[in-house]
Amino acid sequence: MTAELGNRSSGLSRLGLPSKIIAVGLNYRSHARELDMAIPEEPILFLKPPSAVIGPDEAIVLPAGVGRVDYEAELAVVIGKTARNVTPEAAAEYIAGYTCANDVTARDLQQRDGQWTRSKSFDTFCPLGPEVAPEAPEPEALVELLLNGEVRQSAPVSDMIFPPLELVSFISGVMTLEPEDVIITGTPPGVGPLAAGDSVTVRIGGVGELINSVEAAPNEADW
Ligand code: ZN
Repeated sequence: MTAELGNRSSGLSRLGLPSKIIAVGLNYRSHARELDMAIPEEPILFLKPPSAVIGPDEAIVLPAGVGRVDYEAELAVVIGKTARNVTPEAAAEYIAGYTCANDVTARDLQQRDGQWTRSKSFDTFCPLGPEVAPEAPEPEALVELLLNGEVRQSAPVSDMIFPPLELVSFISGVMTLEPEDVIITGTPPGVGPLAAGDSVTVRIGGVGELINSVEAAPNEADW
């Protein structure tokens, strides 16, 4: 596992390994409509462990026996300096930049467990990168997922219920955010399953393109 996920040749910053990844559930109006769920009044938070992080071009490994595993294209906010109880107006100062994330989820386990820790936390279930873009994406920028080159998710950043500055403020009122911590901001409609052999791309206008392969976990006999 490397702590440096980005591309050295680029002028953009590389990602370090976050001390925590804070994720937001149900943060696109169109996704809430798709699921026939009410628009949340406050952000719904959960955590993913740093041990789940992989970089661009690494493989997402499908664990044996867990059933369906889904992609979720998400805009990631990378924290730049320690943030505690910051207002939305001040939040931009605490953001180093933006990158792409895939909130890989073992959907059957999520439903079976009734909470999200196990389903969101397998090794390789948090691809991030490739680089940190310093500027926030434009409101009309699309957050997209391509599976084997076909677009499966596509929604503008402006469809978010709680935009990045509000999320940084809200989360910093709960826990201290440290430099390199990552907030993943929820997924648009159209989540779907991954299979071994797939190539999965998260593409965000003005931010970048994160490509990962998908493979099955080796059988125990192969270890
Ligand atoms: Zn998600």
